[in-house]
Amino acid sequence: MKISKIALKNKSLLVNKCLINGKWVGSKKTFKVHNPSTGDLIAEIPDLGKKETSAAIDAAEKAFYLWSKVPAIERSKILKNWHKLVVENADDIAKILTTEQGKPLSDAKGEMNYAISFIEWFAEEAKRIYGDIMPDPIKNKRLMALKQPVGVCAAITPWNFPAAMITRKCAPGFAAGCTFVIKPAEQTPLTAIALVKLAEDAGFPKGVINIVTSLEPEEIGAEITSNIKIRKISFTGSTEVGRILMKQSAPTLKKLSLELGGCAPFIVFEDANLDHAVQGLMLGKFRNGGQACVSPNRIYVQEKIYNTFVKKFVIEVKKLVVGDGMAAKSTMGPLIDERAILKVQDHIKDAVKKGATVETGGKPHKLGGNFFEPTVLSNVTKKMKCASEETFGPLAPFIKFKTEQEVIAYANSTDFGLASYFFSKDIARIWRVAEAIESGMVGVNTGLYANSGAHLPFGGVKQSGFGREGSRYGIDDYLEIKALSFGNIE
Ligand code: ADP
Repeated sequence: MKISKIALKNKSLLVNKCLINGKWVGSKKTFKVHNPSTGDLIAEIPDLGKKETSAAIDAAEKAFYLWSKVPAIERSKILKNWHKLVVENADDIAKILTTEQGKPLSDAKGEMNYAISFIEWFAEEAKRIYGDIMPDPIKNKRLMALKQPVGVCAAITPWNFPAAMITRKCAPGFAAGCTFVIKPAEQTPLTAIALVKLAEDAGFPKGVINIVTSLEPEEIGAEITSNIKIRKISFTGSTEVGRILMKQSAPTLKKLSLELGGCAPFIVFEDANLDHAVQGLMLGKFRNGGQACVSPNRIYVQEKIYNTFVKKFVIEVKKLVVGDGMAAKSTMGPLIDERAILKVQDHIKDAVKKGATVETGGKPHKLGGNFFEPTVLSNVTKKMKCASEETFGPLAPFIKFKTEQEVIAYANSTDFGLASYFFSKDIARIWRVAEAIESGMVGVNTGLYANSGAHLPFGGVKQSGFGREGSRYGIDDYLEIKALSFGNIE
């Protein structure tokens, strides 16, 4: 199969090698990257293993002793260079992203803006890593707390936001003085490599940023988790793999930030502005074809407005244009692969068997391949899989509820706790519900988090993981607190 070209202004962004210790390395063993819209082959990428991962970790460790001592202001400058280069090349990286991931080009550009916001934010935060001086406990003593970088970090990232998940982890880490080995998802390595290429151009010293690509994530994961030199892993992906990484990291007691699966409730109360709620749900649910850990997974609508709301929503869903992400009119791209299609189909089949009604969609799209129809199900009950498991696809299941108390219990009846959303105009209710919902993030009268950029702390509770990315808290995961106790000062 011939490699199909991506039309880029800056051709140097398309690299089929990995950066280890400042050198771009290839491999005889490679794996193929395909465009999920067309099935075209777009690249052959090194299929690396334990040996190369270990070499990348050694390089990152060596670089750590230098990078962590670079003054914060200098680290900030290099991050600003990276920011500038990513901004200049954002349209090209968005094209790479759409070609390997499938989302519409406008969404890929939106993701680039989101990704860029983390580099900008943490370039600034590098200069604000403050410590504390404690009040003297006893005479002749002075106490201080110093913040220092954690050490060598690994970033293991998913395919659904292949640009933002790199910058959301690496930018705060670099700002703190950490070095990285990145392992991107096998479906979307090209976006990650392009960002690494620009980091190299920006002037990060050799070994500070390394990337290894592989078709055998278990082998890379085993090396990362068992290697004593890795002090921290930041992972975004499934709860299942998060558990594996945590278990494997136990013998070397690594720090972990895990941003895992969700099962987000989206609640519409009868006092809500229904048009805003419809808009919010459209944005939240169908962005990236529902392939987002914060995607509304279960939609609860109060009984009085249930029929009206479902009708209004279906009208909007029918306006979605499914197609190749590169086509200007497409508003929803393909799913990532066949496995994703099978999961959505399984959830629909299970729901219909148990009494749900298909309001629109319900089957693979006539375009074939990985395309699926945006789907709305009504009469959904909590017994159905789609009401308790993450679908990760373009399926909106509607469940009717009567009271606030009842819907809070529904919303919290899950092991997950990443995102949740509700719409209401009653200020007292807004406070009550926002405080009662068990999730790391709550959208009140909004269906989107990403448009807040790096300002918002992002992360979950319960089995959606722990750690926070972005915001002024995002750098804490990459810092250790060292206590200094001074005696005999008089
Ligand atoms: P998904 O099911 O959506 O692909 P995963 O959690 O499997 O999500 O993948 C997220 C990231 O984790 C990807 O980069 C993938 O290669 C990586 N990964 C999968 N399994 C392992 C593993 N056992 N060890 C380390 N990384 C893994």
